Amino acid sequence: MPSYDLLIKGGTIIDGQRTPRFTGDVAIADGRIAQIGGGLSESQAARVIDARDLIVAPGFVDLHTHFDSQIFWDPYCTMSGWHGITSVVIGNCGFGFAPVAPEHRERAMLTLERNEAVRATTMAAGMPWDWVTFPEFLGSIERTPKGVNVLAYMGIAPLMTWVMGQDAKGRAATPDEQQRMCAILSEAMDAGACGFSAQILGENSVQRDYDGTPMITDVMAPEDLLAFAGVLREKGRGVVQMIGAAPELFEQVAEVSGRPVIWNALVLQSDQHGNTYGSYKDRLNWLEESNAEGKRIFGHAVTCDMDEQFSLDDWNLFDAIPSWRAVTLGTVTERMRKMNDPELRQAIREDFDRYAELRKVDPVAATKAGSGGLFLAIPDMWIAEGRTEQGRALEGYTVGQVPGHEGLPIHAPTAKRAKSDCRVLVEKKNGGGGG
Ligand SMILES: [Zn+2]
Repeated sequence: MPSYDLLIKGGTIIDGQRTPRFTGDVAIADGRIAQIGGGLSESQAARVIDARDLIVAPGFVDLHTHFDSQIFWDPYCTMSGWHGITSVVIGNCGFGFAPVAPEHRERAMLTLERNEAVRATTMAAGMPWDWVTFPEFLGSIERTPKGVNVLAYMGIAPLMTWVMGQDAKGRAATPDEQQRMCAILSEAMDAGACGFSAQILGENSVQRDYDGTPMITDVMAPEDLLAFAGVLREKGRGVVQMIGAAPELFEQVAEVSGRPVIWNALVLQSDQHGNTYGSYKDRLNWLEESNAEGKRIFGHAVTCDMDEQFSLDDWNLFDAIPSWRAVTLGTVTERMRKMNDPELRQAIREDFDRYAELRKVDPVAATKAGSGGLFLAIPDMWIAEGRTEQGRALEGYTVGQVPGHEGLPIHAPTAKRAKSDCRVLVEKKNGGGGG
């Protein structure tokens, strides 16, 4: 009778506890690590994996994902699952699919399409929608075959929409509504939610609802947020994930809940020339001070310089800018028509340049004024992928290198030309990380 079910032999072990890496064997019995060491005998194990030249490490946890729909058709949560991630957290930023009434499912999917660029048609095809409430949603995930572990926040947007109505944006909840929302959150926590999440980016939110208006949480009342924090204090468990709120509000949520609060996101932003923006050092100091005062706020850092892409037929990176928003609402055909409107073209060019200038002077003020997450000069953006012959011919060029670009990714005067160009993806090429 072998002592171990599995022996992982000769791998480079990185244990995640800052122990310097070492070569060794890991033996597993009854689903748990039974022994770590060198020279464990193969004869003691029912199965042996040769891990020479491989890393043996605990699975990583992807704290910030929007796999809320993908989990239903992709058990590995690609691409996270490809990179050593064995646990994912869904329901971030206040977005989610429970509770959602059957008649509002389409709207919920359109919302996720606009703010997280998951195609609504894909979601409709791939989600079973065999739930209404949050506990039922967790039940559906439980029944779904998975290659990863899943933790779910209750997203505050579906909760508020469920109780206060679809159009209750920009007002505080009534005492009755607040009480009902807290009761539903409490029920979700009892069912296994890992906490709650909210995006609070204000009127100039860059991740907007399907119709271009801010998300309901973007303009929510602080007192409602603090009431939700109170639910976690009662429970004595759970984590809060937030993005966009003022530091003072983070501190209040940490105090009222007594629970860890995740600050999204600690970002070192840089443009395509490697110039850095933002005040991450101030943020680090603030995090340190808050923790010294017993407020457990943790910065969730973005550890690489992100390339971002957009095309006119899905997510709009410039959603905080009114003229760009106008151009990117409606069907793809309508968007193309608007993109060819000379007045709108002029407006988006002027808006973009105005925010880019403001960014250089005062990045924080620019963000508050609605400059969104990007601050690149459009002519310096790269055409990453063409989807037609004409588009493919432009691949690898910057927008500025395209004759007649007029400072815009779409330059064609004719509808035919506009159609081809509109499906060109434009990405920021990494400028070296900006130190
Ligand atoms: Zn998010």
